Amino acid sequence: MDRSPIPDALERVRGEVHAAARAAGRAPESVRIVAVSKLQGPEAVRAAFAAGQRDFGETYAQELGRTADALEALAGLRWHFIGHLQRNKVKEVAPRAAVVHTVDRAELALELERRAAVLGRRLEVLVQVNVAGEAQKSGCRPAELGAVLEAVARAPHLAAVGLMTMPPLEHDAARNRPCFAALRELRDRHGGARLLPELSMGMSGDFAVAIAEGATIVRIGTAIFGARGG
Ligand SMILES: *Cc1c(COP(=O)(O)O)cnc(C)c1O
Repeated sequence: MDRSPIPDALERVRGEVHAAARAAGRAPESVRIVAVSKLQGPEAVRAAFAAGQRDFGETYAQELGRTADALEALAGLRWHFIGHLQRNKVKEVAPRAAVVHTVDRAELALELERRAAVLGRRLEVLVQVNVAGEAQKSGCRPAELGAVLEAVARAPHLAAVGLMTMPPLEHDAARNRPCFAALRELRDRHGGARLLPELSMGMSGDFAVAIAEGATIVRIGTAIFGARGG
């Protein structure tokens, strides 16, 4: 049987994340890797889990449902939901995710609260901000951030832990850097790192610059698992 390439890739990514943290004068443990397993299948998650990875990210609610249920036996695995979330998909996400990165409107916070209360669960949430201000469908505008944070603060089963952003798809990491800096500055204007410690930003192609700008969570798919659906 061929050995899975995933453990080596994971080890390489860990090394690069730690190097980027050190280069930024930060402790290596201050950056958490979320391994984005979308379209990779449960066996890929198993391989990374066996190599010590515990935080995994899914982008599609139904896929999260299938994959999480197939891997229920893996104790200590934490699911992060990182995709655009429609209200009618909250019922798939609320029972399974530990962290939801993509809360971008008050009505979504209300629906997550309703489901979390029924389940007796507490969810960590990040507010997704569209800092680039382009015609993207996900993320609140910076001017709406205060209102979304207030909606989360009023929800007893939700805990706001930080902010997330997804720059417009851009293969040039240097061009995403201003977006990452803008997210950090927004966080500093909305309570700072004491209230909102987490900044979820950076993917396979640009995590080093995101870390230089203060990322505490990087969401990495292809650099760990290889090309999706291939
Ligand atoms: C797919 C995805 C990622 C991971 O992207 P890679 O380029 O494969 O690392 C990160 N964040 C979100 C929101 C995604 O949808």
